[in-house]
Amino acid sequence: MGDIHGFKKFERSTPSVESPNERIKHFKEFYNESTEDFKTNQAARCMDCGVPFCHSGCPLGNLIPDFNEAVHKGDWKLAYELLIETNNFPEFTGRICPAPCEASCVLSINKDAVSIEFIEKSIIETAFKNEWVKPDVPLNRTGKVIAIVGSGPAGLAAADQLNSVGHSVTVFEKSAKAGGLLRYGIPDFKLEKSIIDRRIKLMEEAGIVFSLNTEIPIDINQEELLEKFDAILLCGGSSVPRNLNIKGRELKGIHYAMDFLTQNNERVSGIEPKEKEEIKVFAENVVVIGGGDTGSDCIGTSNRLGASSITQIEIMPMPSEGRTDESPWPLWPQILRTSSSHEEGCERSWSILTEEFVSEDGLNLSGIKIVEITWEADDTGNFSFKKIPHSEKIIPCTKVFLAMGFLYPKFESMLEGFGIALDEKKNVHTQAYKTNQEKIFSAGDMRRGQSLVVWAIKEGRDAAIEIDKYLMQEEAKLVQKTRNAFQL
Ligand SMILES: Cc1cc2nc3c(=O)[nH]c(=O)nc-3n(C[C@H](O)[C@H](O)[C@H](O)COP(=O)(O)OP(=O)(O)OC[C@H]3O[C@@H](n4cnc5c(N)ncnc54)[C@H](O)[C@@H]3O)c2cc1C
Repeated sequence: MGDIHGFKKFERSTPSVESPNERIKHFKEFYNESTEDFKTNQAARCMDCGVPFCHSGCPLGNLIPDFNEAVHKGDWKLAYELLIETNNFPEFTGRICPAPCEASCVLSINKDAVSIEFIEKSIIETAFKNEWVKPDVPLNRTGKVIAIVGSGPAGLAAADQLNSVGHSVTVFEKSAKAGGLLRYGIPDFKLEKSIIDRRIKLMEEAGIVFSLNTEIPIDINQEELLEKFDAILLCGGSSVPRNLNIKGRELKGIHYAMDFLTQNNERVSGIEPKEKEEIKVFAENVVVIGGGDTGSDCIGTSNRLGASSITQIEIMPMPSEGRTDESPWPLWPQILRTSSSHEEGCERSWSILTEEFVSEDGLNLSGIKIVEITWEADDTGNFSFKKIPHSEKIIPCTKVFLAMGFLYPKFESMLEGFGIALDEKKNVHTQAYKTNQEKIFSAGDMRRGQSLVVWAIKEGRDAAIEIDKYLMQEEAKLVQKTRNAFQL
């Protein structure tokens, strides 16, 4: 609790931002600095709500009312200590989490939620500024060696936890730099890459080894890993994108969203893109197919690269603006979300089926043929769509980005070689994060399916507990050390 009357004194507010017209001139984050009073007043809005539902809204079980109270009192050091009890990387979640905690904030029943995500970011940035964030060097080493494949948030969280109790961890990453989708998917205007570099440096100083440009099994095979390491954690992410196999799919100008975003993120960071042919959008009409985070990131990136027009289409119906009976408080609501990228300019349409990619010259994309649809539920509650007669039209465009989500992890090569069993959705099957193979574990999107950074961190933390128990049995320390949602 901040101030028992705080929510009556102060309205919810978040820092001012650079105007859309200005911020699309660069790829940097665009939030303006805010004053100390602004931050402590926002924290004061946290009420004495009895049962803090925000705890269960956050997959990590962040101690939200406690750190809000510390911020309200100006005790930033205490707030930082409380925050890192449950979250290894608040500088990531404080920037890009959709904040399920805010959706379950008790205040949000009839007022605007406490601005928890902003407070979280303020705490961790204050801690960095004051040099309170130090490498977490263990006092002793256990002699156990662990390989983690994949340096996304799941692999990083597990590495941080396992190293902290003395295991020696090597993270194998096929890309040139660590971070997974934090670095190669999410654009800098949401998360500048210096923020990831700052954290990786601390992890290296704590003793974690990063073996970059190392793809398993191409650069090190499965036998060698099994021989050299006491446990292996697979955190390779969910990387097989959903395709749209309709007429004209082979035309030039149709790309998976991740190809576009990765290439641009590499350029912004000064990394030479692996894909030589640049995907350009300057002065072009762009269509983004898919209404989620990835689609939104394509919009923000296309605006910054000078696209003439951007249209985002989504097959599902337009969500309602407020909560509905299907997702009452404190559940995560399926509502219309307008991202900062949407604010920067684009047309959005829902209930649109793409029927064909069209071309004037038979080689290059010149438009997409779409039709409007309606969705109806049958007696069993299953939804299906019907085309609206005579609603077909062509949207002229020379670039299409397919942003319709990811199906499952790539099986061939690494998972296949280890003999890993999959679940019915073709994600890695585990029990308590352990796969069907001795000493091999899995966490993050590779196990759970495409998800969120906050869930990847939670999975990494939980998998680390299981690995520690597996290696150390009664001497395992992480289960006591780790404060987690399910322990609260
Ligand atoms: C464009 C985009 C935007 C997103 N925006 C948000 C957002 O705003 N907020 C949010 O919460 N979530 C967002 N997400 C989702 C979030 O990024 C993921 O849920 C999260 O990164 C998953 O973490 P992970 O560690 O499981 O996997 P990843 O981040 O995918 O990392 C997997 C890593 O494993 C490496 N790897 C794979 N196979 C091998 C191998 N054989 N050998 C060596 N290395 C290997 C990969 O190179 C990669 O670095 C977004 C996703 C995308 C695609």
